[in-house]
Amino acid sequence: MNNRPISHDWFQRASAITPGGVNSPVRAFRGVGGEPFFVARAEGSRLWDVDGNEYIDYVLSWGPMILGHAHPEVIRAVSEAARLGTSYGAPTPAEVELAELVREFVPSMQMLRFVNSGTEATMTAIRIARGFTGRELILKFEGCYHGHGDSFLVKAGSGVATLGLPNSPGVPTDLSKLTLTAPFNDVEALEKLFAAWPGQIAAVIVEPVVGNGGFIPPDPAFLPALREITTRDGALLIFDEVMTGFRVSRGGAQERFGIEPDLTTLGKVIGGGLPVGAYGGREEIMRQVAPVGPIYQAGTLSGNPLAMAAGLTQLRILRDTDPYAELEARTRRLLDGLTRVIGDAGFPVTGGSLGSMWGIFFSENPVRSFAEAQQSDVARFRAFFHACLDRGVFFAPSAFEAGFLSTAHGDRDIDETLNRAEDAVRTLV
Ligand SMILES: *Cc1c(COP(=O)(O)O)cnc(C)c1O
Repeated sequence: MNNRPISHDWFQRASAITPGGVNSPVRAFRGVGGEPFFVARAEGSRLWDVDGNEYIDYVLSWGPMILGHAHPEVIRAVSEAARLGTSYGAPTPAEVELAELVREFVPSMQMLRFVNSGTEATMTAIRIARGFTGRELILKFEGCYHGHGDSFLVKAGSGVATLGLPNSPGVPTDLSKLTLTAPFNDVEALEKLFAAWPGQIAAVIVEPVVGNGGFIPPDPAFLPALREITTRDGALLIFDEVMTGFRVSRGGAQERFGIEPDLTTLGKVIGGGLPVGAYGGREEIMRQVAPVGPIYQAGTLSGNPLAMAAGLTQLRILRDTDPYAELEARTRRLLDGLTRVIGDAGFPVTGGSLGSMWGIFFSENPVRSFAEAQQSDVARFRAFFHACLDRGVFFAPSAFEAGFLSTAHGDRDIDETLNRAEDAVRTLV
């Protein structure tokens, strides 16, 4: 990368000591080719790399930064918390305050517990579902990503999809046999699996709006069918709202679509940019968790005071300012602009948005499943990604990831983005 020589040097050093030079695979740009830039700092809607290049950022740490980067109130809260000590291994008031605030946003989480990542939250949620139901099978959807827990690395989205890995070595076959999969938005396939394994499926876990296979919204009938079928069979319904939580609406997808899951997992926005995840749901189920019940889950740094301070501050601002209508309108503007700019240049494009989550595919037809997402023109996406990056616009470096918007993105950012995208599209063939 000739305009990123310092990043290039860091990437060389990083690649010699860390697999792929990164601490999470999608950051390595394997989905688009080339090398990642290394970040020096970020503020509001913008990122600066170590070479001094500026980017309008639509990755936003892959979702968490809904108020933009380095929000002054969040930074102040974290700094103040740090002065009082960084970890105690004993409970603090902030954990209770954040839990109560989360429940205010997501009332189906009658009880909840904090962990350190979305992965931890989903791993625990299926352990609880299995413990509570006494069943072993779980059902997930193709292209959905639920973190890197063994049981989920079957037809998974996000980096797994970007790298084209159908399954991960190291996951015992006997365990992966317990994970059933169905295409997203396919109620018939779901019915068939429940008919084949009656009373044996502990839980259905779903990204209620898919973000990790690219942006794929649910058909109107899909989530209600999930609720109906799981209730009928006695399986639990887990909404993995690590991405959609506090994002597609204040109360996540469950509020937006009016579906109450049995368990919910959260991450990303909940931590204000620090490592936080949470799982929770019906009290009767959550009372099975240790030390009240027999299902074990623990964490040395869970409920960390810095992380709680960041999460609490970000969620309080969201509660007090209620930016959701404005975020949604501005995201729509971005999406409509992008599809117009690409379409006007003569390239087939489809896209969608919900709240401040959005995505496009270089595809003739609407995308309803991961199989359809895979039929989109990934090579053209790669070219578009790089042409935008070279013009200072950072979109997710994979055709199979959603984009985001923050309250720091103003109309000026959108206008600039659309101008640069229009210019970028001219380089496509
Ligand atoms: C990001 C994500 C996860 C994993 O969260 P981590 O914090 O990366 O472990 C799980 N589920 C969904 C839907 C996600 O988007």
